[in-house]
Amino acid sequence: MSGASSNTSGASTGGNAYRRWGGVVMGIPKKCWCGDETVPLMSKSDKNPYRRYYRCATAARKKLENDNHIFKWIDEALINEVETLEFKTPRLEQELREIQTKVDKELCDKVQALLAEGKGNMKRMMIVGIVGCVGVLGIMELCIRKW
Ligand SMILES: [Zn+2]
Repeated sequence: MSGASSNTSGASTGGNAYRRWGGVVMGIPKKCWCGDETVPLMSKSDKNPYRRYYRCATAARKKLENDNHIFKWIDEALINEVETLEFKTPRLEQELREIQTKVDKELCDKVQALLAEGKGNMKRMMIVGIVGCVGVLGIMELCIRKW
C-alpha cells in the first residue's frame, strides 16, 4: 500500500498477448487485464496525430511501449459499439412499431368512442393521457433511429 514503485522486471511475456485483446475486446475497453482502468489519451505520432485512444493507466503512467496492456483507438471502439447496437436495433424497432400500430388502432377507437360521447372533463383527461403515452413511444422510436 506504500508508494514504493513496484518494479516487475521479470516480464517474460511475448508479444502475442496483444492478440488476445484484439479478438476479445468489443466496444470501449473499461479495464485492462492487469486490473487497472483504461484512460483516454491522444496520439502524438506522425502516423496518427491527434487520434484519441484508450490505454491502460498503468502502461500510460510507466510510458510502456510494445507491451501487452490495453490499447485501443477510440474511433474503432465506437464503431464496435455502434455495430453491437445495430445487431439489436432492427428487431427492437420492429417490436416498437408493432406496439405503436396496435396502440394507434386502440387509440383511434377509444378517442372516437369518447368523442362520440363527448362530455365530461374526466374523459378529456383520459384522451390526453393516451395521447401522451403514444408520444412517449414516438420519442423512443426516434431515439432508436438516431442510433
Ligand atoms: Zn494494464
